[in-house]
Amino acid sequence: MSSLALTPAHRGVIRAAMTALWRPYTQMKTAAPPLEAVRTHGSRIVLADGRELVDGIASWWTAVHGYNHPHIAAAVAAQLEAMPHVMFGGLTHAPAERLAARLAALLPGDLNHVFFTDSGSVAVEVALKMAVQSWLNRGVTGRTRVLSFRGGYHGDTMGAMSACDPDEGMHRRFGAYLPAQVFCDLPGTDAETAALDAVLAFHRHELAAVIVEPLVQGAGGMRMHPPEVLATVARLARRHGLPLILDEIFTGFGRTGTLFACEQAGIVPDILCLSKALTGGTMALAATVATGAVFEAFWSDDPAAALMHGPTFMANPLACAAADASLDLFEREPRLAQARTIEARLAEGLAVLRGRPGIRDVRVLGAIGAVQFASPPDLAVLKARLVERGVWVRPFGDVLYLTPALTIGPADLDLLVASVVAEALRSA
Ligand SMILES: *Cc1c(COP(=O)(O)O)cnc(C)c1O
Repeated sequence: MSSLALTPAHRGVIRAAMTALWRPYTQMKTAAPPLEAVRTHGSRIVLADGRELVDGIASWWTAVHGYNHPHIAAAVAAQLEAMPHVMFGGLTHAPAERLAARLAALLPGDLNHVFFTDSGSVAVEVALKMAVQSWLNRGVTGRTRVLSFRGGYHGDTMGAMSACDPDEGMHRRFGAYLPAQVFCDLPGTDAETAALDAVLAFHRHELAAVIVEPLVQGAGGMRMHPPEVLATVARLARRHGLPLILDEIFTGFGRTGTLFACEQAGIVPDILCLSKALTGGTMALAATVATGAVFEAFWSDDPAAALMHGPTFMANPLACAAADASLDLFEREPRLAQARTIEARLAEGLAVLRGRPGIRDVRVLGAIGAVQFASPPDLAVLKARLVERGVWVRPFGDVLYLTPALTIGPADLDLLVASVVAEALRSA
């Protein structure tokens, strides 16, 4: 045995070092070790070994202004000096008040009542609880289920998981643990519209709400639907007297080319969830926003009619300051025009993949470009090859997608598109 060989004790130390951190959605025994990031700037992630990767997915769609935008950094630094955090029970503060007022002004209709939490999943939990409790507060019992759509993704906590696609979603193994929801296909055809109508009629006495991701089902497969489909969902929910929850956690803040995806269908939901890009990718924050009619159901002399939720770090002032600064940037800088420019470049650049053997579909909407393979490629190999080209992406299942920062420059965007095209052709 050479003196350079690892002893079992050494191996134990290495294993402990590699397993001290539990990784997200990762089979740690077989996955390649994670890359160590040390710095970010613009659309780029700098690794510990000096390599620089162009981030094709803006850190799970959050970093819409690119990394390290000085305006957000300055706002957070100033807030850190003044007051990093106070509890929100019994206290309020300007960062939260200002942010809530600005969100209410930006959102359509009378979505004016903002509940802050710290992750998208919890924003969905709050939306579900709002819907369920609003019925109870009106004296209606038995409405505890939601109607959700196949292909959807709404988060990783209990209620959110229960609304995800029950068969193809990431949580199918938890079926028996979860509340049973009602699932339908999105109403793309007349037959699907009739089916949704019938399911709503059959289950309406036990339904509290309808929940949907508008225009794009993100983590469920980057599946896109036209605004008319969303309008149909809204119309049928209304016809059956059910509140509509829009999960804009992925689509909110310019990703689909408008500030909010629901604008493209001209609809106003009863409850809307935001997170991901809310702070421009800097801090954990989420918001569940309700209309006056939903809020009214909680406005009462009865203490038990209050909304029964309140996370310790809700409305964290640092995160609110970051989100407020992010909204400044949407006002001052041409983010929506940038999303349109990215859309045109993605559509043009990915078009060569259409109809190629092994490629099932190519979809583009706003700053989202998705390539769907006919069968799932070897994702580890695909990711590694793209890293070799200087590109950071996170393909899943049979989908390789790009959702870059809205501020990405033309050279970096060209590198992303060229690399995705080359590696998709090679993997297909
Ligand atoms: C990411 C996401 C969530 C969950 O948000 P987390 O912050 O990861 O809890 C919920 N819904 C949609 C549409 C999302 O994209």
